[in-house]
Amino acid sequence: MVASEIRALFAVASRPEIVSLAGGSPFVSALPLDAVGDMVARLIASQGQDALQYCAAQGDLRLREQICEVMSLEGVVAHPDEVVVTVGSQQALDLITRIFVDPGDVVLAEAPSYVGALGAFAAYQAEVVHVPMDESGLIPEALSAAIERVTAEGRTIKFLYTVPSFHNPAGVTLAESRRAEVLRVCERAGLLVIEDNPYGLLGFEGTPLRPLRARTRDGVVYLGSFSKTIAAGLRVGWAVAPAAVRDKLVLAAESAVLCPASFAQLTVREYLSTQPWREQIKTFRELYRERRDAMLQALTAMMPSGCAWTTPAGGFFVWLRLPEGIDAKAMLPRAVSSRVAYVPGTGFYADGSGAGHARLCYSLPSPDQISEGVRRLAGVVDAELTLREEFGPVLRRHG
Ligand code: PMP
Repeated sequence: MVASEIRALFAVASRPEIVSLAGGSPFVSALPLDAVGDMVARLIASQGQDALQYCAAQGDLRLREQICEVMSLEGVVAHPDEVVVTVGSQQALDLITRIFVDPGDVVLAEAPSYVGALGAFAAYQAEVVHVPMDESGLIPEALSAAIERVTAEGRTIKFLYTVPSFHNPAGVTLAESRRAEVLRVCERAGLLVIEDNPYGLLGFEGTPLRPLRARTRDGVVYLGSFSKTIAAGLRVGWAVAPAAVRDKLVLAAESAVLCPASFAQLTVREYLSTQPWREQIKTFRELYRERRDAMLQALTAMMPSGCAWTTPAGGFFVWLRLPEGIDAKAMLPRAVSSRVAYVPGTGFYADGSGAGHARLCYSLPSPDQISEGVRRLAGVVDAELTLREEFGPVLRRHG
């Protein structure tokens, strides 16, 4: 295990003079904090004996029913028996990997992939094989080819890990036309799909695309989270899995944490039954759309030519491609000196590639801060380009 690039950055990026486009934290201040505070006080006064007690390892039954209601907004039909409540979806990722992966097994994952998933895969010594994406998400033909190649090498693939909607970090969404095809490819190969969908309800345009789990009950383990739709600090997420996998998940969760926190679960349960949570998700969606727009406008207005970026239709992230030859990791100290932070692309690849990219997150800073952050970043990229023009020939001559 090694420190993730993001964690190492947090200390620096949280200094007040720095505009952080790194992070990835939701804007929890948009919650009605007074109302939530009153609700929590009432919860402890009236149900403290349950909220402060151990509970079942699979999670609170009423909460699992409510989770099924939340998932139905995206067209996922699931039974509360199939749901396992976890400590954030991060714990679900850890447990799934622990259950399935032996050292040296292959996990297929998009290129790039969510850094926390890569961390879990590394902790269990999985070998990640990346599958390319384009603006429409994972490329089914590339997935097929990767399965063929790895199988021909005699290696075992345990699952495909994918974030089909509003990808972290790539900011792209798997096109409707590709969703059935990805499932077909995996089904043909007998490959389990781990569908990670924490941003599904945070789409900016029209109705969200149906998750893979809405199209098939078998062959997909679905991961959800309240981190972005309610509050990340509660650490409540879940997995929906076929019975055999669910049983193993419950056993693995029991050995890790006995049970998820009753206090957090009952807080979510109470929030979903007494607060206007659908309207609150709409508020989040509008807030993030405004911030996405601020970022895209600033990038268009200020980034030097040679840069390119994705246009997210939801979620928190823009994936920036830097001009040829600029290394995002090497540039970071100069960016921090110019009071802007981002996450270099290398954090999102198991093989250390991705240096030509950066992840920019717009969920936490205000629109004005976003514009200022992009202005500073554009200045840093400009300076890199100038440096290369002036010293490039010298550097090349001297190796
Ligand atoms: N998956 C993805 C794609 C994420 O972006 C995150 C949070 N950054 C997680 C899982 C973990 O979320 P949590 O543990 O807070 O539910």
